[in-house]
Amino acid sequence: MTLTFDDYQKRAIETAVYPKAGLNVVQWDGIPDFVPCGFIYPALGLAGESGECLEKFKKILRDKNGHISEEDKIAIAKELGDCFWYLAALCHELNLNMSSVAQGNLDKLASRQARGTLSGSGDNR
Ligand SMILES: [Mg+2]
Repeated sequence: MTLTFDDYQKRAIETAVYPKAGLNVVQWDGIPDFVPCGFIYPALGLAGESGECLEKFKKILRDKNGHISEEDKIAIAKELGDCFWYLAALCHELNLNMSSVAQGNLDKLASRQARGTLSGSGDNR
């Protein structure tokens, strides 16, 4: 059975246990307000897990001259999975389906490929 992005997202969210952070703000008229910011925790987690991947690559460069072992791959795959989890949670907090995000990315790349702008910089090329 193939695991789809949306299946993964649904199952990942069933394991989500994290604080729903928010901000206490004061509006223009001085009235205090609470703004729920459920995206903060998974956004921080995604950055953290990405950093864990990079830390492994750094140590592979430092200690193994860049040679990645099967053991390294297994460890990196676990960190990539952790990234996936936080990405799923972040999509959930933003009311986005992972499949739509993935399809949108492929569409963007296909458009750039067709227009010969895969290389270069800028989000909107
Ligand atoms: Mg991790």
